[in-house]
Parts: sequence; structure tokens; C-alpha cells
Amino acid sequence: MVIAANLGFPRIGARRELKTAVEAHWKGNLSAEELAAEGARLRALHWRIQRDAGLDVIPSNDFSFYDQVLDTTAMLGAVPDRFGPSGETVTPAQYFAMARGTSDAPAMEMTKWFDTNYHYIVPEFTEGQNFRLASQKPVDEFLEARALGIHTRPVLLGPVTWLSLGKAKDAGVDPMALLPAILPIYAGVLRRLAEAGADWVQIDEPILVTDLSDAQARGLRSAYAGLEGNGPKLMLASYFGALDDNLDLALSLPVAGLHLDLVRAPGQAAQALAKAGDKLLSLGLIDGRNVWRADLAKALKLAQDAAATHGKDRIQIAPSCSLLHVPFDLDAETGLDGEMKSWLAFAVQKLAEVVTLTRALNGADVAAELAVNAAAAASRRASPRIHDPQVKARAAAVTRADLDRHSPYGARQKAQAARLNLPGFPTTTIGSFPQTAEVRRARADHRKGLLSDADYEAFLKAETEACIRRQEALGLDMLVHGEFERNDMVEYFGEQLAGYAFTRLGWVQSYGSRCVKPPLIFGDVSRPRPMTVEWSAFAQSLTDRPMKGMLTGPVTILQWSFVRDDQPRADTARQIALAIRDEVADLEAAGIGAIQIDEPAIREGLPLRRAGWDAYLQWAVDAFRLSAACVRDETQIHTHMCYSEFNDIMPAIAAMDADVISIETSRSDMELLTAFGDFEYPNEIGPGVWDIHSPRVPPEADMVTLLRKAASVIPAERLWVNPDCGLKTRAWPETEAALRNLVAAARAMRKGD
Ligand code: GLN
Ligand code: ZN
Repeated sequence: MVIAANLGFPRIGARRELKTAVEAHWKGNLSAEELAAEGARLRALHWRIQRDAGLDVIPSNDFSFYDQVLDTTAMLGAVPDRFGPSGETVTPAQYFAMARGTSDAPAMEMTKWFDTNYHYIVPEFTEGQNFRLASQKPVDEFLEARALGIHTRPVLLGPVTWLSLGKAKDAGVDPMALLPAILPIYAGVLRRLAEAGADWVQIDEPILVTDLSDAQARGLRSAYAGLEGNGPKLMLASYFGALDDNLDLALSLPVAGLHLDLVRAPGQAAQALAKAGDKLLSLGLIDGRNVWRADLAKALKLAQDAAATHGKDRIQIAPSCSLLHVPFDLDAETGLDGEMKSWLAFAVQKLAEVVTLTRALNGADVAAELAVNAAAAASRRASPRIHDPQVKARAAAVTRADLDRHSPYGARQKAQAARLNLPGFPTTTIGSFPQTAEVRRARADHRKGLLSDADYEAFLKAETEACIRRQEALGLDMLVHGEFERNDMVEYFGEQLAGYAFTRLGWVQSYGSRCVKPPLIFGDVSRPRPMTVEWSAFAQSLTDRPMKGMLTGPVTILQWSFVRDDQPRADTARQIALAIRDEVADLEAAGIGAIQIDEPAIREGLPLRRAGWDAYLQWAVDAFRLSAACVRDETQIHTHMCYSEFNDIMPAIAAMDADVISIETSRSDMELLTAFGDFEYPNEIGPGVWDIHSPRVPPEADMVTLLRKAASVIPAERLWVNPDCGLKTRAWPETEAALRNLVAAARAMRKGD
């Protein structure tokens, strides 16, 4: 018999109930006991949903109050000293303190989980660190499910991935050398799970789809040699890509089963099947990373081949990865029409897809389900809502020449200097100004229909004008309109582009209690009408100083959306780039002399394997260039990136050929800028001199110090002076104070003080 398995279920609840509960607890409105009870209620509900869907293998310990990596850190007792002496087990207070910090202990770092938009809490490793079993969560949740009559397969994050994701805080600490210290704890947990009645445990090692160092490969070998034995059988889970050169290693490990991501990497099935011996193979055939309904006929074909060669008793059908990364339930969704919904599957629907495939393999009659699935796929393939021949033709006709500005940077620089007439060390900001409670209230009232279109527009115009007057009074050189009309830098554009849809309940966890609702690119993307021109032109009409138009770039729009799966991402990026290009051309025609195209997400789109980087960077950079290259020499193109490490992608950043790039550097003390210096970056740069993530107002002297440092790496005539990022999360008093200092610092630099 083929078995239907799941690897993980969204923990936030259909209506973000977990967010509500956790935040109430943080505010002191819900006790630790009440929070625990709400967690148990959600787990029970989610287990029952999976059981009722017909899953044979239901995961436990996939739930978390914050993050599964932090849960593992707690399990291993790896609590950094600053969070106080730990008792026998990590308390909820300590757990949340690690995630969020306290007044005297800064939070642990947070970063993106592989190539997802989920963020995990980074483990910290120090000299002489001790590990011990400090959380019974995996066992407790297994027993909790068992008490409900549900037999689960507990999920653990594997030791080598956990160590690989952590960071040594003391020089000389080698994370992989800590393996022997944590393995006994893993072995103990497995033993306890066996005693509790678990026959299988899923152990996640997504690190297997990355380029492994020798130490990591050795670590995997020794870890699983030590873990295999009298405990439960292990289902080693790889996901987010192909095992490739790690396939032999993965298959050589003494584990009973191996999970493969056959959505990202269908090509690895044949090889894995040929070499799997008597290992159980879990076939990840349903996309856990995207929202589209599966092509069941195609998946079934692959599964049937696998069953024929490997035997029905040795395969499982599963999603490609945990369903944590997709929204909860499409049936509850009210923001989409019926046709659109027929093309989609959220977590609950994906469970049904897994079960349908499994039943088909086991000989059940699923003709009706397959027919509905095929009809939906056919309607999507043929729908005029998706296919716009004009957009396709235009994208196909793009040539290299469309990606190049008329003149090289040197000539552009002269034309721009003549037009803009800016002083040395010109000052500007990154785009947004404080989104005050008033601004947010007006937007909410407008959405609810309590504020008329005309009144809302009048309000936004008044805010914009006031913002411009403040910038003038501060003495900034290049102004922005402030972005008061925008809720979010991707949603704002998505709402105005053809080919985009929006859900009401399509939440996915981003980090801790924070959830995001990525818009959905379902069809060919185009721009029916100008999106920002009115705002920028209005703003420019109010001032003699140059106004910088403000757009989001094609790669960032792509990266922060659910993207269609029926064409390569590169093709979708190109369509978005053409839409942005239209906007750039219209802004230029409206007399806007500088246009910023934000690309904060370029780096996070990098493939997990180095081998994929060049191809990605090629189309990503091309998309940016396509969006910008239509303007005349004297029109200045800016771009902005934040949180970026540039060292290994410097050639690509330079190839974007923006006239000016602003980056986040203040927290790294201009360290990030050395990549630009070493590379001899040819165009202009605005290294951030104010960390806008903190309410602290940096004094003029601090900014001068940073600028002097910058001027020692980058020729002074190519430096701009600006904050690290947009100011939407700041309040006006600190914003004005910091910008006053920023302008003073620039003036001091001009005088050479
Ligand atoms: N222009 C945007 C802003 O200022 C940029 C935001 C970002 O880089 N994330 O808000
Ligand atoms: Zn930024």
C-alpha cells in the first residue's frame, strides 16, 4: 500500500488565531497557561483536519509558538547566557525573550529560512557552551496527539542543518565540531519518542540541497551513524531543491526513508529510484511553496513509475515540503472569484491532492477527482485572463539594445549634473516618510467606505505637501513625495497591474507572530494606466527642488509575490519590467528628473546552489535594466537595497548600471561599503548614515565620521548622503531631528571640516 504523508501544517490557524493569542500574551492579556491551551486547541484542530482528509502520516512537533529552529535551540538547551540561568527546561518567558529580546538582553538574530520568506532565529555558539535536553516538546506533542487518538510522526530539525544555520559568537568556535555534543541529546529524544510509541520520526535536513562543505558531509555521516539504531525509524527529509551531488551521500545514510522534493527537482526521481535499495522514498509531488492546484495527471504518472520500479510498499506521497509556506484554506477565501479559486490549492486542498494521488495508486477510482483537476488545468491554460498576446509579443521582442542606456555612465553623469545642479554630497531620503497613526487611520477609513475618495485624496495631498515643506525647511537637496498613498511597496503596484490577484485570508507566517499576505501573479502582467505619475507630478509642482519618482523594481515585485508556475520566473520578471518601464517613461515625460527603482530583494532571490547564481543574476539584472534603460541621459536612475551583503554579487550590482545606488551601511559602520570600494564601483553611491530601525537620533558628528570613512573608500564626488532605508516606521520628531543632523553633516563634508 502506498501511504499519504504530510511534512508539516500551517501553525498560525485559519484566521491567524495563533498570532492573536501570542500577541495577547506578550501584552499581558493572556497568561502562559491560556496561551498553552490555545496552542493545544489549534494543534488538535489541525491534526483532525489532516486525519479527516485521509492522511496516513500526520506530523507532530511541526507546531511552534514562534519558530521551529528556536524550538530546536530550546530542546538542546542552547540558551545564550544573557537570557539568564536556565532551570531544567526553557520557560515560555525565556523562549520569547530569545526571540524578541528584553530591555537588557538583545534578541537573537533572525534571518531567512533557505530561499523562503520565513525567518528563523539564528542559533548562537560560544566557547565552552554546554548542551542538555531542555525541552520535552517533541515528546509532549506526540503524547498529546496520541491522547486524541491520533498517531503522529514527530518532526525534528536535523542536527547538521541546525548547526549549519547557527553562528559562532566567539572566534575559534567551529559549529560542526559541536556535533558530538548535541548528538546524545538527539539520541535521547529519539529514545523517549520510541518509549512514547513513535515508530517513525521525520528528521529535516534541508541543508542537503545546498553545496555542502566537507565538514558538513562528514557531519551528516557521523550524525546518522550515531542516531540509527533502536529508536524510531527515520524519514530524512530534503526539500527546496535537488540533492544532486549529495544524492549518494543521502542514500548512503543509515536511515529507513528519504524524502525528495519532486516539485522543485522532478528530474532527481529516476536516479533516486535506481539507487534507493530498500529505502522508503517519500515523493514530494505537491507544491508546498506555491498556491497553484497540482497537475495531478503528471504527478500520478511520476508516482506510478516510482511504484512500478520501487514497489508500492516503499513509497509515500507527500507535499514537496512543509505546508507552512502556503495559506491555510482556500474554501474560506472570499477575495477571489470562483474561476480563480478553481486554479488554486491552499494547505487544506493540498492535503486532498496528496490523498487523491495515494488512493489512485492504491487502485481506488478517482476518475471524478482527476477529471475536475484536468478541467481546472485546461481552463487555466486557455483563459484569456491569463494570456495576453500583446504582452507576450512585446516581451518576446525585447532585444539587448532595450537593456542599455543611450550613453555610458560618464556622459550621463555630466548631463545629469547640468540638469539637476546639485551640491557635493547631495542629500536625499529613500522614499517613505512617517506613516503616522493618522495616515493609517485615513487609509483604513477609506477602505471601509467611511472616507470618500475625494476626501481621502485631499488628505493625502495635504500630507504630501506638508512633507515637501518639511524637506525644504530641512534643506534636503533631492526630495521625495513621501509614499503616503502606499500601504506596501509591492501590494501598491500589484493592485494596479493586470495579471495580479489579492486574497483576503491568504496569510503565511513570516516570522514569529508576523504574517504576510503575498499577492498572486496569475497571468501576463501589464500596466493598464500610469500608477504613480499623478503623485510625483503633483509633488514636483509644489517645489523647485528636484523630485525623485519612486517605484518598486521587477525582481522585488516578483520575489514578494506568489508567482505563476506555468512559465519561468525570468519570463514573469521581464513582463513586470516592461510594465515598470512604461511607468518610468511616463514619469520622465511628466518632467520628473530622477526616478528610484527599489530592488531590496535582489539578493534574497539567489538560488540555494552557487551553480544557479549566474543564470539568476543575468535575468534579474536584465529585468532591472529593462525597467530603467528607456530614459534620456539627463534623467537620473536611482536604486535602493537594504539588508544586503554585496561581496559575492558585486559584478551584478554594478551591471545594473543605476546612476545612483543607496544601501544600508550605518549599522555595519560602513563595512558593507568596502565591497564597493574594492570593486571600484563606477557610479554614485549613497551609503546609509542613519540606522532607521532604531528610534535613536544619530548626532551630526557620528554621521560625519561615517561619511569620512565612506570617502576613504569611494571618491567623494560620487557620494550621496541619505538614511539606510525608508522612514515609514519612524515618528516625525526623530525623523526631523535626524535629518537636520544629516543635512548638517553633508554641509560639513562640503566645507571639508
Ligand atoms: N522606497 C521604499 C521606502 O522608502 C523602500 C523600502 C525598502 O527598501 N524596503 O519605504
Ligand atoms: Zn531599504
